[in-house]
Amino acid sequence: MKIKSITNYLLKQYPLSLQEEWDESGFLNKCDLTKETKKVFVCLDLNEKTIDEAIKQDAKLVISHHPIFTKNKDHELSSFNRKLISKIKKAKITVLSLHTCFDNSNQGMNFLIGTKLKLRNLKWYKGAKFVVGNFAQALTVKQIAALFKKTFGVSLLTTNANANDKYSTIGICAGAGLSVFAEKFDELSKKNILLITGDIKHHGWQDLANYKIDAIDVGHDLENCFSAFIASLVKQKFPTTSCLAITTCKKEKSI
Ligand SMILES: [Zn+2]
Repeated sequence: MKIKSITNYLLKQYPLSLQEEWDESGFLNKCDLTKETKKVFVCLDLNEKTIDEAIKQDAKLVISHHPIFTKNKDHELSSFNRKLISKIKKAKITVLSLHTCFDNSNQGMNFLIGTKLKLRNLKWYKGAKFVVGNFAQALTVKQIAALFKKTFGVSLLTTNANANDKYSTIGICAGAGLSVFAEKFDELSKKNILLITGDIKHHGWQDLANYKIDAIDVGHDLENCFSAFIASLVKQKFPTTSCLAITTCKKEKSI
């Protein structure tokens, strides 16, 4: 299958116009898109593992969720990522990142997570970029955490809630989504919604405490479901292409 047939299809589903201003979704490396590829790799992060595997398997197209940020003035591109990008270029691999184009679409990350959890009345929260949905019945925070572990294979969960508090509604903003929730903290402090996101920093927990809002930090590994979802989408549309989802869970452990 021609590389561009696949990239055009994905960019039609998840147009670059949907991405956030700060994001760098799009092509990190764009080779000859008229070339054929038999294999496509889909991953959450661009790292040595995913790129080495793509090279080994002769995949000429890699689709990732997270991009490598190259234009961010606050963070200089690390020497590691510089080497990784030159490795990608040398191997003539086209790399497309869908990050917030996927997240902001109506079949995107937060809906995918909510659907996997079998939430009811799943919808965007009014005027915000996170979704809310209900469980069939109220669950304790402990049960909700167990459900996330079982459904998504996440392990390092942190919360400010009491394990036995019950919630029937959750708000989901995968990735580092606390700033998205923060725009609605005034409203959320009056509602009984447990927030689910990743990357909550010290001051974020303080804000949550001030507003008396409960949250669970599930990390970014929650977003690994992106890979299997996109791989199955590509396989469905292009049955002759072998599309592999690579799971790159983090290696950090609790001690
Ligand atoms: Zn993320």
